[in-house]
Amino acid sequence: MSASENANIKVHRRPIIAPYNDQEAILIPNPEVFRRKLHDLVNGGSHNVEVISDYDFTLSRFRIGNQKGKSTYQVVEAGALSGDKLQETHDLYSYYHPIEVDPHIPHDEKERLMHEWWDKSNEIILSVDIHRSMLYDFIMDSNLHLRHGVDRVLHHCDRNLIPFTIISAGCGNIIEVSLEEYLEHEKLEIHSNFMIGDCEGRYTHWSEPALRTLNKNLVLRDRPVKPNIILLGDMISDIKMIEHATYNDALKIGFLNEPSSYVLDAYKEAYDILILNDGNMSLIELILSLVTGEAFNIDDYPSLQALKDYLPSLVRN
Ligand SMILES: [Mg+2]
Repeated sequence: MSASENANIKVHRRPIIAPYNDQEAILIPNPEVFRRKLHDLVNGGSHNVEVISDYDFTLSRFRIGNQKGKSTYQVVEAGALSGDKLQETHDLYSYYHPIEVDPHIPHDEKERLMHEWWDKSNEIILSVDIHRSMLYDFIMDSNLHLRHGVDRVLHHCDRNLIPFTIISAGCGNIIEVSLEEYLEHEKLEIHSNFMIGDCEGRYTHWSEPALRTLNKNLVLRDRPVKPNIILLGDMISDIKMIEHATYNDALKIGFLNEPSSYVLDAYKEAYDILILNDGNMSLIELILSLVTGEAFNIDDYPSLQALKDYLPSLVRN
């Protein structure tokens, strides 16, 4: 870590980065496809690569101890709401979340219902007084944790001028505060839903257009991206973030946080490599290191040993 990276470390009221999770496992569904994509990524070099990432349960942990981790929306709701209003948002989650993850509901119907959910939630949130100054405490009082290694990955991208683009249907204000130390990174971009305040700092409305699970693909429709993409997501629909983007190839890395509640085969179909059991960011750091030529000691990470088979073939052209 450089001196300037050290200078930017903020001392938080509690750690915001989760400890290393040694339960992580790596699964490569199709070794030949993975080998080819990794080879092309490394040969393309750092100036040709961009990271496109989801936030909730991709950059943040899905579970902390025995508790389910809070999403960015849940952090705001738990911090700002109480009594009946908080219960209302819980009821909305119980009703709409099963729809969100149900692969059998037609796309258009699901999109309509997701809009309905967010509109109702957003209205409840802004019905109480929320100021920007409250958000840090909302996060510290919640169990939101960034995955182990998020800091190193963001610094790695910053040092090498690799764009790191976050596309989230969550609450962008919480994302910004959680990543406050990295916001000055020239290539870090956050596309999300932002609460916008009046002149006294009280939030009064939401940014438009609303970004939902199923329209995250619109962000990169008219925005150029690098030819090689490293995509990070935790839901099957996250791979659609790049469906309207123009690029050569994408290495898709999926966090399958709770294998029992999802269909493993569908994830194996969607992603080139899976990080199981709510793992860490060390795989992404390894891949970035291969692209940039920076040192990375794979022997420090037992779960990454399977990757060793792929490394000898990575000879740069
Ligand atoms: Mg997510």
